[in-house]
Amino acid sequence: KLALHGVEKRFGENVVCDGIDLTIEEGQMVCLIGASGAGKSTLLRCINLLEPIEDGEILLDGKDISLPGLDPQPVRRRIGMVFQSFNLFPHMTAVENVMLAPRRLYRKSRSALLPEVTELFERFGLKERMGHYPDQLSGGQQQRVAIVRALAMKPEVMLFDEITSALDPQLVGEVLDVLRLLKDSGMTMVLATHEMAFAREAADKVCFLKDGKVIEEGAPEALFDAPQHPDTQAFLARAL
Ligand code: ATP
Ligand code: MG
Repeated sequence: KLALHGVEKRFGENVVCDGIDLTIEEGQMVCLIGASGAGKSTLLRCINLLEPIEDGEILLDGKDISLPGLDPQPVRRRIGMVFQSFNLFPHMTAVENVMLAPRRLYRKSRSALLPEVTELFERFGLKERMGHYPDQLSGGQQQRVAIVRALAMKPEVMLFDEITSALDPQLVGEVLDVLRLLKDSGMTMVLATHEMAFAREAADKVCFLKDGKVIEEGAPEALFDAPQHPDTQAFLARAL
């Protein structure tokens, strides 16, 4: 379980996360929605310790991972992240991309990793693509490989930042299908997304962010069908 208490992040004078309280139970999928600049990406980056926070705490299974001076590497192994741009290494095949980090961090050989990695490719319908280079894959396939690469580290929590935003519309569905599969497997997930229909259908909880604050959160039916706060109402009126 992941719990944020009073998380504050500033860039100079700009308060980008302004006292964020958020709980993500094990196996839950939580979607962050909100206008551009609301602080969704920054919040995900703080959770993954890519950004230090100024105040508050981030608890992973009850332990504060945000304490200054803590080694972020073990935390980043436990919390995987996938971005809008897939960032696969172009000179490596899909399977080499996926094996790179576990080979280095767990000092495992390719042959030792191959069975579990193959299984991951199989689970996400990519077995035939293992030996392909990124430029031989569609955008949707590349993004699915990027997800497999994060999963190869066996994370306990996965963070996704607008992972379908750069894709052609006809490729979005296959990536959302991967998210559904992951959720069904019990993965704990936090997504920043503009895919409102997906958030409504698949999320356990939706949080509306504005100016670095959680303005409203709740079950998707409640938040989308009967938003309470005027800011949520205004945002949804424009977004839906
Ligand atoms: P979008 O929907 O466009 O992805 P977002 O909700 O993800 O928006 P963030 O990218 O988290 O928003 O940005 C929140 C605010 O933080 C913005 O005002 C942005 O300019 C600022 N910001 C983000 N990263 C930095 C940085 N590295 N340095 C300075 N300011 C930053
Ligand atoms: Mg963003």
